[in-house]
Amino acid sequence: MYTDQLLTCVDCGAEFTFTAGEQEFYAQKGFQNKPNRCPDCRQARKASRNGGGGMQRSYGTRQMFSTTCSSCGGPAEVPFQPRGDKPVYCRDCFQRIRA
Ligand SMILES: [Zn+2]
Ligand SMILES: [Zn+2]
Repeated sequence: MYTDQLLTCVDCGAEFTFTAGEQEFYAQKGFQNKPNRCPDCRQARKASRNGGGGMQRSYGTRQMFSTTCSSCGGPAEVPFQPRGDKPVYCRDCFQRIRA
């Protein structure tokens, strides 16, 4: 009941075959959409999503807020949003105060 379809890749514009087998697979999975990309571009996207992990790793790092040190008036970076009700210190002053 399925026949091969020729689709155009939205990324590279190349024509690729959406095979009867793939259509059946898509139907079984309940996918409503046809593939937008040729197998090459799909692979490339998958690889860029998994490879490197740049996005995922930076997601875990804390966002730093730039502010002014309450002690020396120099630039300071703190891992929370400074609200002005607490003193914030640059790394040098923070270590001096802790010591
Ligand atoms: Zn492509
Ligand atoms: Zn300071």
